[in-house]
Amino acid sequence: MANQTLGLESNLYQYFQQVSVREAEILRQLRKETAKHPMARMQIAPEQGQFMALLVQLMGAKKTLDIGVFTGYSALVVALALPADGQVIACDVDEEITKVAQEFWEKAGVSHKIDLRIAPALDTLEQLIAEGQNNTFDFAFIDADKSNYDNYYEKALWLVKPGGLIAIDNVLWGGKVADPDIKDNRTQKIRNFNKKLHQDPRINLSLVPISDGLTLALKK
Ligand code: CA
Repeated sequence: MANQTLGLESNLYQYFQQVSVREAEILRQLRKETAKHPMARMQIAPEQGQFMALLVQLMGAKKTLDIGVFTGYSALVVALALPADGQVIACDVDEEITKVAQEFWEKAGVSHKIDLRIAPALDTLEQLIAEGQNNTFDFAFIDADKSNYDNYYEKALWLVKPGGLIAIDNVLWGGKVADPDIKDNRTQKIRNFNKKLHQDPRINLSLVPISDGLTLALKK
């Protein structure tokens, strides 16, 4: 969905980008490469990447999860923000598209920080739980198939430590969630998911209307 912040008219959005976005050259190149792909809109907006990098630095995060890799922008922006011994476990099913990701991680000199697991993300998350890695992750970013959002969230909630953060992308879903006439399956899933998180006593919550809507859930 939207790869720029929703609801800002274009002059203001341009200004916002001009005085805020400091996209590294390698990220800019990856954006250019991704634009050739028919699903390019799946990439996160640069202002969102920068925001996530800042969060990760603010937290002093070391161990992170990237659920839904695509061409690897979010994993790259996080890996660049992590310390030298930081780690991203990156989950995706698509061996082809993640080749682009790997090429750019290599070029950026952070491939040693990123552990790509080609498998259904739920399997990878279950495996991490089975290995006893509960309560060990600082940060998780969920941006994969929307029908599984709740499942990813539940697994991520096991894996992050208390005080750890789960960031969930596309929760405003291009504005469709606010239109009661739109009842397709994915929109309904995101609506239900948002409603659930609003009531969830296990987290502190903030839905940030950056990009296509980014929910921040801090595990208590
Ligand atoms: Ca997304």
